[in-house]
Formats: sequence, C-alpha cells, structure tokens
Amino acid sequence: MQSYRVVALADRITNTVRRTLRSPGYDHPAHAELATGYGPCRQCLRTFAVGSDRRILFTYDAFWGRGKLPLPGPVFIHERDCERYPEDAGFPVDMLSHRLTLNAYGPGRRLVAQSYVSNGVVEPELQRLLRDRDVAYIHVRDSDAGCYDFCIERTSKEEEGLDESTTSNRGDPRE
Ligand SMILES: [Zn+2]
Repeated sequence: MQSYRVVALADRITNTVRRTLRSPGYDHPAHAELATGYGPCRQCLRTFAVGSDRRILFTYDAFWGRGKLPLPGPVFIHERDCERYPEDAGFPVDMLSHRLTLNAYGPGRRLVAQSYVSNGVVEPELQRLLRDRDVAYIHVRDSDAGCYDFCIERTSKEEEGLDESTTSNRGDPRE
C-alpha cells in the first residue's frame, strides 16, 4: 500500500491572488465571478455551488517549483478565504464524481503513465501508478475541462525503500 499526500495550492499563492487579483508569476489579471461550473476550488478541493459561490479565475503553472518547463493553465479558487485541503486526508471526496485524468511524471517532467478514471474508483489506479518506481508524482486533471486540479506525492522516500524490499523478498512475479 503506497501512502501519499494530496497537495492543493499553497496558501501563500491563493492569498496573493485574492489580495492582488493578478496571476502569480504571469501578472495576468485574475477574474472574479459567480461560479458557473463545479470547479473545484484548488485550495480546499471542494466543488463550487454553481450560481451561489463566488470564485476567482487565474493562470497557474502546475509545474511551478519543480522544473524549468512551465505548463500554465486556468484554475479557480474561492473568492473568499477557505481552508486548504489537508495533505493527509486521502483523495478528496468531491473529486470522485468527475472524470479524472491521472498524469504520472518522473524526474524532468517526463510523462511515465497516464490513466483515466470515470467511475469514481480512483484508489486502485493511484496505487498501481505509485508502485511504479519511475513515477515521482501525479497530476490530477479534469478529463472534460483539461484543467489542473491538484498534485499527489508519495509520503516519504523511506517508505518507498521499505516497500521495495518487501516486494523483492516476496518474489511475487506479478509485482
Ligand atoms: Zn476553496
């Protein structure tokens, strides 16, 4: 069993966007509006209440801080302060009802594997991807909109090592 953390947008990014109404690193104007789609908010990872929640649209590079090749795209957050999704809370329930793309990357932003989940059964697929030692992290995107939602990272390097030795001792060829 691979343990992982769910990495939503950091508070320092969302706070800056709310304060300046500019996209961090791009300086494009951010746009505040009544929610016309489900989102989610990239900070709390909750679905927007269409027609009542207010949200901010801005440009964000999903690879910011990880490498030199950017891949900017549109993301939404709640207009008002909200609480960042806890990293140790498992896969966000609000996301399970959407069609999701899991992009599994290795070092240097190399796409190692890609998988589509449309039935809400995401955990076996995540476990399969995280067992692959070439995978360093996974970007979760909305399959319909194509937008970046959040990142999944293995919890620790130590655990990776332990899992590996357990696997090789068992000698199960299916692993
Ligand atoms: Zn939120």
